[in-house]
Amino acid sequence: MKYSSIHITGDEIDYIRQVVESGKTSGNGPFTKACQDFFSEKYGFAKCLLTTSCTDALEMAAILTRVAPGDEVIMPSFTFVSTANPFLLRGAKIVFADSMYDHPNICLKELESLITSRTKVIVPVHYAGVACDMDTIMSLANLHGLWVVEDAAQAIDAYYKGRPLGSIGHLGAMSFHETKNITAGEGGALFINDSLFDARAEIIWEKGTNRSAFFRGEVDKYGWVDIGSSFLPSEMIAAFLYAQLMHMKEIQKVRGSLWNHYYDQLLPLDLQGFFQINRIPDYARHNSHIFYIVTHDEFTCDMLLSHLKKHGIPALFHYQQLHSAPHHLKNYPGKYLPNADRFTHCLVRLPLHNGMTIGDVSRVCESIRLFFHSKRREVKMPLFSNNKKVG
Ligand SMILES: *Cc1c(COP(=O)(O)O)cnc(C)c1O
Repeated sequence: MKYSSIHITGDEIDYIRQVVESGKTSGNGPFTKACQDFFSEKYGFAKCLLTTSCTDALEMAAILTRVAPGDEVIMPSFTFVSTANPFLLRGAKIVFADSMYDHPNICLKELESLITSRTKVIVPVHYAGVACDMDTIMSLANLHGLWVVEDAAQAIDAYYKGRPLGSIGHLGAMSFHETKNITAGEGGALFINDSLFDARAEIIWEKGTNRSAFFRGEVDKYGWVDIGSSFLPSEMIAAFLYAQLMHMKEIQKVRGSLWNHYYDQLLPLDLQGFFQINRIPDYARHNSHIFYIVTHDEFTCDMLLSHLKKHGIPALFHYQQLHSAPHHLKNYPGKYLPNADRFTHCLVRLPLHNGMTIGDVSRVCESIRLFFHSKRREVKMPLFSNNKKVG
């Protein structure tokens, strides 16, 4: 069993061949437009720009929000480095918040307590494609005059109260990295939900030039009008992505059935108090991106990982909390964030990809059951309230 695999739809090569034969291989061509239109038509995103990665989309967001030295940006500590790096590159100070007690997403009480007169941006991360409570985040942002940049890297086809993730903050960033549900190898998108950013986003995207306005006939010549970089992917990347987007429904269907099978098989062990599985708040519709279990302690987690490995089942921990990474500690002495710490040391991701069958999922669950039963782990302390939904 593999930990992950990408689902090839069969159309990727055809579309890439079309690009090669057309001779138009650089960015912002027909396939780029087709992908961007897909997001507008299917989800109603106001404006979408394809990027070479989610990291790049977040770098664009950092430039667009004019984050500068002296500004503070609040985000969860339990996230990928790319949530933080784009704002650090602009000279901002990153302020890390803890996760919720029973969910890796940012704790909103803590978020609120960290807002100062220097805060400029909030970056909620929708971990495993499960929505943060965006109504609360948006009203905090409006109250304090802050920008919200959604890190929706894992959140394609996932929703908050019926609204697609990435469309709610002022800006949203998505990833099409190989490890995500829909992939282009490397790729991403920036969603611009506040029209205030429209014109400048295009300029930053096109290396700081007004080339897009020129091609629309709005200016006579194009030149250097702002800072920017080479954020747009080639048409080969866009062609690959388009093939994936066109088959999203079937890709998601398989993932969904595997995820649900994990849920049904592992819920009884969760209810018996052996560990905690994914919590899905009532306001969230997730996209089956990750199935995980959280053990009571680091020791059990390590034992479980080696047990699974011994049985040929690949499983992985996830993020190492950023606020205690050596790179960050150098600048800001760490504080203790107990929930981020627990998810760092006790969260195990189980294999979940389109190359798997329901039988594979059963095998993983059987091995987990065996581990907890044979160890006679009577660690049934009510560390997590039994599978109550996150509120
Ligand atoms: C994958 C991921 C990223 C980075 O995406 P890339 O497209 O690889 O740059 C950023 N944030 C989160 C939460 C991610 O999961």
